[in-house]
Amino acid sequence: MANEKQVDRLKRAFRVASASWDRAAARTAPGEIACRAGCFGCCIGLFDISLPEAVLVRAGVDRLAVGDREDVLRRARRIVEESAPAFPGDARTGLLDPDRSEDADDDYFAVVADRACPMLELPSGRCRIYEERPVTCRTYGFAWASDGAVFHPPCGLNLPGASGERQLETSVDIGLLDQAEDVAADLAAGLGIEPGSETTIAHAVLGTAFGPPPG
Ligand code: SF4
Repeated sequence: MANEKQVDRLKRAFRVASASWDRAAARTAPGEIACRAGCFGCCIGLFDISLPEAVLVRAGVDRLAVGDREDVLRRARRIVEESAPAFPGDARTGLLDPDRSEDADDDYFAVVADRACPMLELPSGRCRIYEERPVTCRTYGFAWASDGAVFHPPCGLNLPGASGERQLETSVDIGLLDQAEDVAADLAAGLGIEPGSETTIAHAVLGTAFGPPPG
């Protein structure tokens, strides 16, 4: 389990990602972005997250009110159980195999592509762990760039018909984000796992690698 200081450090680091999104938004013209409260297309389908992201997700779940936490746990359990045969790793610990093939990865994330994130409150579209959400959630919507090149396009609802140049102008530079790697080593040592360990949001909630299974 992360201590309060580590959780604060993770939150500070990830706020840098939120600020990068805000800067990208400030470079857009009216009508170029569709992101708004209640739009949750980017919360459908699982994706891989890093150890610092997983630890912060778990901290977010820990502070939820009982009713919300129970709903999150029920939905996470259902995803983990139903997708276990395809999970390219250990579904009990929640850890993805660091040596998994790209095909195994693609196959798994295709299986869970239609699953709503357990943190998503429906029908409001509110994220229950907004303050603790992963970097991916904080930066989605705009293109992701690194070293001056786009490597992931913006959400299909944003920047319709934008040229590559326009996508780059409004991108979030992932390479410049604070990924809290300094804390990752401490967190990993405390949990007895590798700092580069990856998981998903559902597995971060339930995986024994991230603490005792929540009740
Ligand atoms: S953590 Fe929150 S923002 Fe991220 S996918 Fe889940 S509901 Fe959406």
